[in-house]
Amino acid sequence: MQPAEQPARSIWESTSPPRKPAPALTEPAKSDIVVIGGGLTGLSAALHLARGGHQVTLLEGRTIGYGGSGRNNGQVIPILSAAEPDRIEREYGAVGERFVHLLKNSANTLFNLIRSENIDCEANQTGWFQPAHTAAHMRLSQSRVTAWTRRGAPATLLDRDQARELIGSPRWFGGMFNPTGGHINPLMFTRGLADVCEKAGVTIHENTPVQDVGRACQNWLVKTPKATIVAGAVLLATNAYTGALATRLAPKIRRSFVPITSWQMATEPLTDEQNASILPTNPAISDTRGDLHFFRKDAESRLITGSALMFKTNAHARLRKRIAKRLADTFPQLPDARFSHIWCGYVGITTDFFPRFHELGPNYIGFTGYNGRGLALTIPLGIELAKALTGTGQDDLAIPLTAPRQIPFHAIGKRVAPLALAKFRYRDKRPPRL
Ligand SMILES: Cc1cc2nc3c(=O)[nH]c(=O)nc-3n(C[C@H](O)[C@H](O)[C@H](O)COP(=O)(O)OP(=O)(O)OC[C@H]3O[C@@H](n4cnc5c(N)ncnc54)[C@H](O)[C@@H]3O)c2cc1C
Repeated sequence: MQPAEQPARSIWESTSPPRKPAPALTEPAKSDIVVIGGGLTGLSAALHLARGGHQVTLLEGRTIGYGGSGRNNGQVIPILSAAEPDRIEREYGAVGERFVHLLKNSANTLFNLIRSENIDCEANQTGWFQPAHTAAHMRLSQSRVTAWTRRGAPATLLDRDQARELIGSPRWFGGMFNPTGGHINPLMFTRGLADVCEKAGVTIHENTPVQDVGRACQNWLVKTPKATIVAGAVLLATNAYTGALATRLAPKIRRSFVPITSWQMATEPLTDEQNASILPTNPAISDTRGDLHFFRKDAESRLITGSALMFKTNAHARLRKRIAKRLADTFPQLPDARFSHIWCGYVGITTDFFPRFHELGPNYIGFTGYNGRGLALTIPLGIELAKALTGTGQDDLAIPLTAPRQIPFHAIGKRVAPLALAKFRYRDKRPPRL
């Protein structure tokens, strides 16, 4: 069982303006469509559906942005972590080509939404850089640049000097730069998108955990602690938090991915001198390691970074020590980083590192599996889910609709999954397999 609550306060909660709370559902209700989950995927789908003329109710178990959407590092990244475009197209044919096209444009899609809806969220489309952590990994960067430029993405290969200049550190060997990426304050964005949804007519209820979804005649009964809502169609947008707030909800989806804890940390604000030399043009960085090194700056010039851990014991103290050392190795100008905030969230990992749309019944769809790279994708995939729910056929979607594939021995898999980090660390020391 996952722990239901993740209480530590993120930097985003400390720095984002509050949103007017939406009331919990207390009376029986009806809605054309119910969206379960108030993260970016659910909100993007809800907005698209409401603007398409549907009556939409969104139910969030805690508060808007409680899940990955409000807790992430805020890096807007237009590629997946491990599924390469060639493989996606090979395995999924025309559907795969549509997905790759959508992925290629995903960062622009998100930033364009921010601009068109005027969402105040500390958005910086200053580029995303994936530096190579060994000389051998430059081959991986080169192959990614080739794959993406062949598909029209503005990806370029930077050499070692350019990488040093961009990051303000000599630790990397060059890498792939994509100017459409960047970073945002993810909680501000999620709250802002919820406001846009409400203006478009979406009814939002917070503190309304859905306990179960059942069938009655041609409708769905969406059960919450105080009231049931009758819906013609349901979108389950609980992603990596499926099962975290209600164990009976969609057990087949819950067993189709493994939730991994990702730790995030914010340093105290950098000094002016450090700020000028560390990430001077303010890009977002996540490197080629499996045990990722990643960081970006926030609006108050803190470094926002983090790590995965194999064991949770004494996590905060271990993270403070380990990441302070990592930052000192990376940036000699930051020899003794101190952290004001440490928090964590769940990332949903699928067996092939590819997101999935699941058919759970007539007009009932769920999804999982951004595999830690969901921020940019939530917006276009939310729209794809809205389309799938309102009759767009399999042939016109960017992800096939499939039945959930349950991971064998899921309970054991969940326990041992963090140990895969040892494998990533071992692989990080070896040349990449291309
Ligand atoms: C720590 C962390 C760092 C990350 N960093 C990045 C990054 O820098 N860049 C990037 O691209 N991706 C990143 N990701 C991934 C990205 O944040 C997610 O893929 C994305 O936010 C998923 O959005 P979502 O709407 O699908 O799910 P979520 O935002 O997780 O939303 C699911 C919602 O469902 C709600 N819910 C659950 N159960 C119920 C229920 N029974 N009833 C009602 N509501 C329920 C939850 O409370 C939650 O609000 C990160 C993820 C984490 C956790």
